[in-house]
Amino acid sequence: MTFKTRFAPSPTGPLHLGHAYSAMLASDMAASEGGEFLLRIEDIDQSRSRTYWEEQIFDDLDWLGLRWSKPVMRQSDRLPVYENALDTLWARGLLYPCTCNRKDIAAATNAPQEGAPLLGPDGLIYPGTCRIRMQGEDLSQRPRPKNEPLRLDVFKAGRHVFGPKTPMGRFEERGEGPNGETGIITFTPEELESTIGDVVLSRRDMGTSYHLSVVLDDAAQEITRVVRGQDLFEATRIHVLLQALLDLPTPEYFHHRLIRDEVGKRLAKRDDARAISKYRAEGVSNSDVRAKVGL
Ligand code: GLU
Ligand code: ZN
Repeated sequence: MTFKTRFAPSPTGPLHLGHAYSAMLASDMAASEGGEFLLRIEDIDQSRSRTYWEEQIFDDLDWLGLRWSKPVMRQSDRLPVYENALDTLWARGLLYPCTCNRKDIAAATNAPQEGAPLLGPDGLIYPGTCRIRMQGEDLSQRPRPKNEPLRLDVFKAGRHVFGPKTPMGRFEERGEGPNGETGIITFTPEELESTIGDVVLSRRDMGTSYHLSVVLDDAAQEITRVVRGQDLFEATRIHVLLQALLDLPTPEYFHHRLIRDEVGKRLAKRDDARAISKYRAEGVSNSDVRAKVGL
């Protein structure tokens, strides 16, 4: 199997130093393993994606000296693949419709158990309101709703795929999570429910979600090592669960440190000051950019 890494930006703003670090690190790893570096445009959020940003991504990466294998995958070309996976999960009774908004979730969450975390990778941990409301109904016998958000019952799904006795999901972390987590990482269905909650797999107006697409796309591109920022470490358990549910291989993961500004704040899309295009326009060289991020 060829060693493959990828860079998967969303064309919703300029690439900044943090993106450059991620892309160069993934490309360097592919080169040192004699493998391939791939690119994927994560444009499922059509309300925020722009061709302008996509073109600038190509220009920036090219200027950074990166070369990637063709073809470039584009998520907006893959909507039927996502639909198919949702049909599979729906037929197995693992999804349920939920129209709770942020306010509803906050209201339902206001009496947390002591010590229980409130926030998961997608924000407030969903307390399962709609799942509990629909308990006992066999939703899989109904057609899958197309215009309502669908959530994954993570506890049921975890039991389903990781076995009833000592159910455990696992993945190999080659880098480090935000608290130094590394090596073989394991987790139980109970932990999924209490620290992540039932995630949305199909968003309104999108027909999919980041979690569902990223898992299907990494598998389709045959990525063997996912290199990305530590901010996505927690979400990895959901990705591993989805891989098991959809019969997809689990790649190795390498979560890297985040590039921060002078006051220690992580860079955001709107951080134009550190946009690659800005360095490019100012005549900074790409090896200076490498040095700036410590590569
Ligand atoms: N598209 C995601 C982002 O821009 C990256 C997803 C990933 O690397 O898994 O943050
Ligand atoms: Zn709900």
